[in-house]
Amino acid sequence: MSIELLKELSETPGIPGREEQIRKIVQRELKGVVDKMTVDNLGNLIAFRKGTSKKPKKVMYSSHMDEIGFIVQYIDDKGFIVLDPCGGHDPRNTIVQRVKVLGRKELLGVVSWKCKPIHVQSDEDRKKSPSIDKVFVDLGLPVKEVKKVVSIGDPVVIHRDLEQYGNRVTGKALDNRTAVYTLIQALKRSKKNNEDTYAVFSVQEEVGLRGALVAAHQIAPDIGVALDTTLACDTPGVEPENAITRLGEGVGLTVKDGSLIADHDLYQEFQALARKKKLKHQPNLLSRGGTDGGAIQRAHDGAKTITLSLPTRFIHSSIETVDLSDLKAKIELTAAYMKGA
Ligand SMILES: [Zn+2]
Repeated sequence: MSIELLKELSETPGIPGREEQIRKIVQRELKGVVDKMTVDNLGNLIAFRKGTSKKPKKVMYSSHMDEIGFIVQYIDDKGFIVLDPCGGHDPRNTIVQRVKVLGRKELLGVVSWKCKPIHVQSDEDRKKSPSIDKVFVDLGLPVKEVKKVVSIGDPVVIHRDLEQYGNRVTGKALDNRTAVYTLIQALKRSKKNNEDTYAVFSVQEEVGLRGALVAAHQIAPDIGVALDTTLACDTPGVEPENAITRLGEGVGLTVKDGSLIADHDLYQEFQALARKKKLKHQPNLLSRGGTDGGAIQRAHDGAKTITLSLPTRFIHSSIETVDLSDLKAKIELTAAYMKGA
């Protein structure tokens, strides 16, 4: 599998409300692939393909484009930047990282927290743990220079290249650029679909499923298929019953997550389709954390909804890791459902 496009999607910044660079990539990729593309008032990109059956149903797919990130909250008199978090951060994952500050131009910075190096820490210092209000960005520039380029409200994202190791890839924002990639590839592969296909590349999922809710109200779908990542806690220190999903065991079919109980008939339909196509799949039960599926299910008159989830290790960090065979299974399952096969 060529990972060139996935790499571009992963490394391109797009915090909630500032997904424009991702949207441009999707528009470029889907030119001539779908019948129509529109952008709604909130910034959702809705790609449409007419169904071939006599009385087509409306099927809405949704992949959120945004990633967790930060917003510049304050610039102090030495030029250090204080951050406002955007999305669910573990503060331990945000420190000792390189970041990109998207001001008038893109600046490289490092993010650390208010602490001393190990050499000079007291016993008391060693007990402290980072909290999000203690992190700051160092841009390596005098305050005057910083203020020329950076304004309050500018986006900040973790800076990390996507790399392949073995049959896996690791990088930032695989939640949810793997799903953006999946939806693009499924549309390219399926070509003709039985039902009316609305492929939504949604905004602001990480701050509460906002884009998908608005898109689902417009579309009023009969069926909803959200595409997202899920937790793979199949690592040392986690009890097997709490693994959620396992890397390399196939695409996750969501039974429930924090926002959604999947439609049982639809779950069985996807399970049967995965078996028929000989695609590896596994159940996904997540007690906390939502997906666009939760919004689609409840919008307008309601829709039968499921989420297809990609098992992801070290989620919401700069070393998110997925297995390429799971990703392939997810693309093939999505494309097969789109075709109506
Ligand atoms: Zn996500």
